[in-house]
Amino acid sequence: MLRSAAITAVVTQAATKAGFELAGIAPVEDAPELEYFPRWIADGHAGEMKYLEARDEQGRLKRASLAHAAPWARSVVVCALNYNTAQPYSTEVQKKDAERGWISRYAWGQQDYHDAVMPRLRQVEAAMRNACGSDEVVTRCYVDTGPIVERVAAKYAGIGWIGKNTCIINQKVGSWLFLGVILTSIELETGLPAPDRCGSCTRCIEACPTDALIAPYQMDSNKCIAYLTIEKRGAIPDELRAGMGRHVFGCDICQDVCPWNRRAPATEIAEFQARPELVNPALDWLAEMSAEEFSRKFRGSPVKRAKRNGLRRNAAIAIGNSGERKFLPVLEKLAADEDEVVAESAAWAIQKLT
Ligand code: SF4
Ligand code: SF4
Repeated sequence: MLRSAAITAVVTQAATKAGFELAGIAPVEDAPELEYFPRWIADGHAGEMKYLEARDEQGRLKRASLAHAAPWARSVVVCALNYNTAQPYSTEVQKKDAERGWISRYAWGQQDYHDAVMPRLRQVEAAMRNACGSDEVVTRCYVDTGPIVERVAAKYAGIGWIGKNTCIINQKVGSWLFLGVILTSIELETGLPAPDRCGSCTRCIEACPTDALIAPYQMDSNKCIAYLTIEKRGAIPDELRAGMGRHVFGCDICQDVCPWNRRAPATEIAEFQARPELVNPALDWLAEMSAEEFSRKFRGSPVKRAKRNGLRRNAAIAIGNSGERKFLPVLEKLAADEDEVVAESAAWAIQKLT
């Protein structure tokens, strides 16, 4: 078996070979950032994302303490995949064409990011197990589903700091990053946490249209457009609809305005290359999309998570916010839709336009 430092080197080399821009090792000790997690959950800031509230048999929040949730784990390997592409930012194009909406940057490609990150993570896991040369070693790979707050682990692995917009930011790569983690029973050499480089900047907080960044480093998901357009089922609260602007799936604003993303490099990974029709898409196309087209267009895509009726609900609200009265016939059709939420959202939009 190689020594800890040598295995760490194998892990980082394997991560690079697998296509990850960044990789590092975090210890399993509970970080001070996690102390806020139970309060954040108790205050209801996770909205309907019940998976964040998963508890162990003693009723403890799994994500609040890796030491409790995976007592066998000794180190956390964190890998980050850059998904940025060369397309402009929402803050650059959204003002230009009111007939078009916005799908978040991470969802423009052919494949859901879970399916892109996991096989690469498995390559790193295999190299690590091979370097350990022991069948006794325990490893577990996770993309979003682990008993861990990935961005906290990423900070302590040296991937980047947690910005005031709550995203992980790397000084060279920016914040367009998917994270994957491998918990391991091996004690590996760990990195140093990345220093916070937000300084006195507050651009993300000022730019957030729904005031979801309730304080630096703190988000109320219930107000975040990404949550509202992707995770929230049923009607979107009236008071948040205007702030959604023309976002139909996710929101990139607090990352678009971040100075650390000004020179973010573009990825060459084929699965993340943007499908042109999803960048700044036509609102009427989304609002009128048939079940068959939705299924064909978004097969394997993260957009499927919103479901067709969720996307049409969002498109109706976006049209209401567009000021484009030419879309009234589209809204009138949606207002008679059999889905009550779609119909009510369209009725709201008609009222807004007229
Ligand atoms: S994703 Fe959009 S709505 Fe959510 S915090 Fe960032 S700017 Fe605000
Ligand atoms: S916009 Fe400014 S405050 Fe917000 S995350 Fe970026 S650097 Fe930090």
